Amino acid sequence: MNTKNTWKKYRGELYQKYFRKNIIEVFVTDKIDSVRAKAELMINNKIYIPIDIKLPYPMDRSMAGPGSGSLSIALTFDNKNIKLVTSRNQNESYSLQKENGKFHILKDKKIFLENVEMTPILFHAPRQAFINLDSRCIYNCAFCNLSKRGFFHEYDAEKFVKLILKASNRSDFQAVALTSGVYPDNTKTIKKMCYIIKNVKEKLPDIPIGVEPCISNKKEILLLKKAGAEEIKINLQIPDKDLFGKICPDFRYNDILNILGEAVELFGKGKVTSNIIYGVGESDRSVIKAIEKLAKMGVVPTLRMIRINELNKKKLEEATSDKLPNISVDRVLKIAHEHKKILEKCGLTTQTFETMCHKCGCCDIVPFWDV
Ligand code: SF4
Ligand code: SF4
Repeated sequence: MNTKNTWKKYRGELYQKYFRKNIIEVFVTDKIDSVRAKAELMINNKIYIPIDIKLPYPMDRSMAGPGSGSLSIALTFDNKNIKLVTSRNQNESYSLQKENGKFHILKDKKIFLENVEMTPILFHAPRQAFINLDSRCIYNCAFCNLSKRGFFHEYDAEKFVKLILKASNRSDFQAVALTSGVYPDNTKTIKKMCYIIKNVKEKLPDIPIGVEPCISNKKEILLLKKAGAEEIKINLQIPDKDLFGKICPDFRYNDILNILGEAVELFGKGKVTSNIIYGVGESDRSVIKAIEKLAKMGVVPTLRMIRINELNKKKLEEATSDKLPNISVDRVLKIAHEHKKILEKCGLTTQTFETMCHKCGCCDIVPFWDV
């Protein structure tokens, strides 16, 4: 072999041994970093918006979900969405910066994430008209953050239909989702949901509709399905049975499991989801056991890190008779990876959903989207 060929071979080996390896490592590190960044932002949940920054889209005031009652914005980076509560307090750890028309997130005044995009929120979520039909609820779940600042309880079912049809004129409109507090009783709430679904489907037959109701019996699931809902979220909420009894005193753990089984029979595998909230004192083992239990039934759980605020902190600490633990980035990521592994084992994915949280991805680390 001549010197030229020897050098070529040597260069090839060097490339394989170091350069390519480094590229892969850098790529993997970048990917992990953006997930870590998302988890870190989720834990902190607030972003300072300097008064002189003109936002391209209006802030959203959510009536349900983690940022309920607060003004939020949705941001996108590395194909990951996140919704953060906005703050005018310049001492927040994270802040938004705008430079030459681009947005960056700063952490302690240093660049944390570059070239972040602001994503428009339709109703509560990007690309979805996700509506909370009633902010009142007869039940008392200690973590619940339903905002009392909503005006929708003055709306009747017909007004909601009009609101959704109006939203459908927007170019980013892709889906409808309905949630609700239970008021004055579940029969009335389900009836209202069914009316809205039927009437929206009549005008927009191809738009997917997801529902997040409280369910008392199989008949209610059937009514929603017949009305035209394609996806359903029935929340288990608390994975640990003992904590469940303390935090959701009006519900029974096993009843929700049975109802979820019935929902899978009617809506199909990969079309039923259920919130599992963590960060209220449960063990990782109990979270994983709950994910396994639901996934084996064909339910694709939504893993939701608890967001603590002045509305729910005292209620939760009183209910559990304990101080709430801090949640680390490592724990959030560990749970997300376990979640993905279990879904894979059960032949499920979050990507079968067209509506609600798996599709939105703003509040959780979502398997198959984020990890
Ligand atoms: S049933 Fe739903 S809306 Fe009512 S308190 Fe519980 S979590 Fe909140
Ligand atoms: S992830 Fe769910 S709760 Fe959070 S903004 Fe999106 S739809 Fe709402």
